[in-house]
Amino acid sequence: MRLVLLGPPGAGKGTQAALMCRRLRLLHISTGDMLRQELQAETELGLKAHAYIEKGELVPDNIILDMVRAKLKEPECENGYILDGFPRTLVQADALAQFVELDAVIYLEVPFEIIIKRLSGRRRCPKCGVIYHTSHYEKSTCSCGGVLYQREDDKLETVKNRLAVYEAETRPLIAYYSQKGLLRTVDGEGTPEDVDARIAALLEP
Ligand code: AMP
Repeated sequence: MRLVLLGPPGAGKGTQAALMCRRLRLLHISTGDMLRQELQAETELGLKAHAYIEKGELVPDNIILDMVRAKLKEPECENGYILDGFPRTLVQADALAQFVELDAVIYLEVPFEIIIKRLSGRRRCPKCGVIYHTSHYEKSTCSCGGVLYQREDDKLETVKNRLAVYEAETRPLIAYYSQKGLLRTVDGEGTPEDVDARIAALLEP
């Protein structure tokens, strides 16, 4: 199965993708995580992307497309995957359609106020990538021992910019995939398990 998870920053794409991947035995491909790994390793790509990420801007399409094309050619992608955070523009969606036939695009719908709350309390483990929320988890370390941190781009000013960029660049993908008959809208409010159950029900044959 080849799936896309679509939704604003903070909709829970990363969390839901992890649950879906476990349930459906698919590979989780997050372009945000890939870029953060490049940045941590101080590669040329990572350093180029850094300036965009820290402002909450999108990394240019050609950089993202080269990275995703190379990833999807890897043998580990053969058994299916969930794309999280990609595509984010119509150019990326059109390019993806040239080399991949998608089974479905899951759109996580979450009200604006909840997104702001989720992003401002979000903490990430740098070692294993697990996401926590300060309202449910008070410790400062992950179960794997990593010291949790707030992503630079989860700070309020950057979040506002990321949401504006989402509205302008990514929201049009909802109509795009709806016209192609691929869009499945899911209510993204509630616990991760609630949302996962809704997604599972939607994907039943
Ligand atoms: P994410 O972890 O998905 O929220 O992504 C973090 C940041 O990485 C975004 O705010 C963008 O700067 C960049 N990024 C991730 N995926 C893409 C993409 N498909 N197109 C452009 N920029 C991206």
